[in-house]
Amino acid sequence: MRAEELLTDLDPSQRAAVTEPVVPLAILAPAGSGKTRALTRRIAWQGAMGHLDPNHVLAVTFTRKAAGELRGRLARLGVRGAVTAGTFHAVALAQLRRRHTDAGTSMPAILDRKARLLGPLLGNARGAELAIAINEIASEIEWAKARRILPDAYVSQVQRAQRETPRSPGEIATIYQGYEREKKRKGLLDFDDLIAACTEALETDPGFAASQRWRFRHLFVDEFQDVTRAQLALLRAWLGDGTDLCVVGDPDQAIYAFAGADAGLLTQFKDQFREEATVVRLDMNYRSTPEIVKAARAVLPEAERAHVRSAGTEGSPPVVIAYESDTAEARGIADALLAAHGPRRPWSSMAVLYRVNAQSAPFEEALRRVGIPYRVRGAAAFLDRPEVKAVIDELRKGAKAAPGRAFAEHLTDLVSDANELSEDRREHVDAVAALGREYLAAEGSTGSVTGFLEYLRASLRGGDDGGLQDDAVDLLTFHRAKGLEWDTVFVTGLERGLVPISHASGKPDAMAEERRLLYVALSRAERYLQLSWAKERARGTRVSQRTKSPYLASVEGAIDGAEMADATVDNVRGAAGARQRLAAVDAGELAIADRPLYDALVTWRRDLARAAAVPAYVILDNKTLRKVASTRPRSSAALLELSGIGPVKLERYGAALLEVVGQHTG
Ligand code: ATP
Ligand code: MG
Repeated sequence: MRAEELLTDLDPSQRAAVTEPVVPLAILAPAGSGKTRALTRRIAWQGAMGHLDPNHVLAVTFTRKAAGELRGRLARLGVRGAVTAGTFHAVALAQLRRRHTDAGTSMPAILDRKARLLGPLLGNARGAELAIAINEIASEIEWAKARRILPDAYVSQVQRAQRETPRSPGEIATIYQGYEREKKRKGLLDFDDLIAACTEALETDPGFAASQRWRFRHLFVDEFQDVTRAQLALLRAWLGDGTDLCVVGDPDQAIYAFAGADAGLLTQFKDQFREEATVVRLDMNYRSTPEIVKAARAVLPEAERAHVRSAGTEGSPPVVIAYESDTAEARGIADALLAAHGPRRPWSSMAVLYRVNAQSAPFEEALRRVGIPYRVRGAAAFLDRPEVKAVIDELRKGAKAAPGRAFAEHLTDLVSDANELSEDRREHVDAVAALGREYLAAEGSTGSVTGFLEYLRASLRGGDDGGLQDDAVDLLTFHRAKGLEWDTVFVTGLERGLVPISHASGKPDAMAEERRLLYVALSRAERYLQLSWAKERARGTRVSQRTKSPYLASVEGAIDGAEMADATVDNVRGAAGARQRLAAVDAGELAIADRPLYDALVTWRRDLARAAAVPAYVILDNKTLRKVASTRPRSSAALLELSGIGPVKLERYGAALLEVVGQHTG
């Protein structure tokens, strides 16, 4: 593509971000404003202008998928030559390998799971307790390494950060020390070490540094708000004396502080790179309808809500649904997916998002039941997850110890102490137990542990080949959804305890991160957004009553506000009418399946209103359009039955309405 063509479909701020000559450059902008687009365009445009050679570009992204996406986009933009795109870890690993190959030495083996070394250091814990302890300590070590904190400094740094730790900081520091010692003794590196080891190699080996800096002269980083200090150090080591760095990010989407990331590195970018750095801001949202932008931003604290405009055309307001139970939620969403699926809305344009991995189980089951292809992203298939394996192992052991006992009793044992368990483990125990009850319902009281395992494998099998299928509904956590987008998004499990997650309560920083996380989730939707929660959720053998997420109120307020706004021009019944409409929407009056028709009706009305130079509400109000969309009248008589349509409106608009309905109904 010619250079100027690469700028034609960009707005002025985006164009400035692409052509800005001064580096280091930070592009700071909200979700959906085209940051990733600006980043790829910048590479392509600078390439086309001869300012850079794509072979010398390194683009760092957050996941492998994002890296692949970036390469794809660059190829479509006609970037010749190979841009290297990958995660910090992947690039560091490749460089370290290269260094060893060049030196004729062998690369240390990578320790894929910390558990192997941590287990023996944890004293006499056993079974599930041990698994939990390992997870907790491993997270602490990862946090420390992300912030470049060595075991010696761990205690003082924890105090400085006012971090709550799962055990006393002194105890963790000792385990951390022991872990490092063991690792060194065995000649291993863990994943976090890759970053530090590569940084150190660049800092201490001038030959290696020179060759890498020659190879990668132009550095780009997406999602910079989630960069850690360790990664920043690596970035600096890559740069050396150079300054050719462009980063993009959104502080409102910082969701990895718990793992040691520091959004301050983005917001204080100028301080990091002295005054020569430039900051460009974008403020137009291109991804979502104005209704979705508004609902998503309502989650953020008011003071921090940057100004955003939406480039999209009017759509339907997000819908909030309260389901009777978690199973009803999963099945309801499976039905909605079935209904929404069509030639213009393939499976892959829809996603179901949830807060914790364990929540995927009921969705996997519900989608498999009705034959919807799906793919569980970012997590091993349910049965392969270590937490789930631990739970199943426990069941197996119980069955071996008491072969005569009924499966139902084993299940009761498993969940009886569920309340004393950590949140993460409880989620997994609950998920397995819920499937256990389903199995019992199918099998009757004769069920056995072996039978249950077979049932599990069979009923969750949809996930196994899910990864191979291109056209599949995505199931993923809010965290994993960052940077991605879909036409239709279901954000689920919006209940206290999950959103915000229970272990964040009482911790202001963690609570703020929970809000941003929900913002990330809601801002993934382009046209249709459904938010849901379940009034009860299975918790082991008990069913617990749930209350809706406190964050839902602001979203509903934003939806309500939108409805109010149209009520004032739309309907003399004003606020009361708006609330009624909201209630109707709340109850799911407008099923996902009816929304394309509703959108078409809104477009028809808008065009007509423009042509006649009258406000849209003069033609028909939203409530009537919704009624038309949900009842799909096929005759004048049927139209007349709708409360918003009398003989005059029928005569004026009846034929046109029937035509729009006809086009959308088989
Ligand atoms: P996030 O913060 O969620 O990662 P982002 O800022 O990186 O979002 P992009 O993914 O680059 O946003 O863009 C969002 C969507 O808007 C994409 O589908 C993109 O192609 C589209 N888009 C961006 N800029 C424009 C534009 N000027 N004209 C039309 N579409 C655009
Ligand atoms: Mg992006």
